[in-house]
Amino acid sequence: MDDIREQVNNERHSKSRDVIYETLAGTKTHPDAEWVYETAKRTCPSLGIATVYRNLKRLSEKGQIVAIETSNGSVHYDACVKEHAHFICEKCGKILDIDFPEVPFTEAENAGYEVHRGKVVLYGLCPHCKQPK
Ligand SMILES: [Zn+2]
Ligand SMILES: [Zn+2]
Repeated sequence: MDDIREQVNNERHSKSRDVIYETLAGTKTHPDAEWVYETAKRTCPSLGIATVYRNLKRLSEKGQIVAIETSNGSVHYDACVKEHAHFICEKCGKILDIDFPEVPFTEAENAGYEVHRGKVVLYGLCPHCKQPK
């Protein structure tokens, strides 16, 4: 009896995790947990915000998604785990993917270090915010 309940529980957990992951994978806007929650809820109305936070945290700990901390302290997520840099607009908070050369990794590796992960964040103004009004 308990086994079955456990199984159902696990299934529900992995199902919500799938929905959360799919929601994130379906966008390139690097959303925060709130956005993921609002959007995923349309597919899975029983989803709770705590579940979203918990799963996003777990997915990023496992390296399946990337967590990006913006300058105002909010955390945004990215389902693209390929090494790339991010540009964050300091005015509107827009996050953009930037291709990043492998140079820093190669340099560290040449010096005998084993590189596991890299995180490069550029801050500035996006073209929209740069324009004088
Ligand atoms: Zn901007
Ligand atoms: Zn990205």
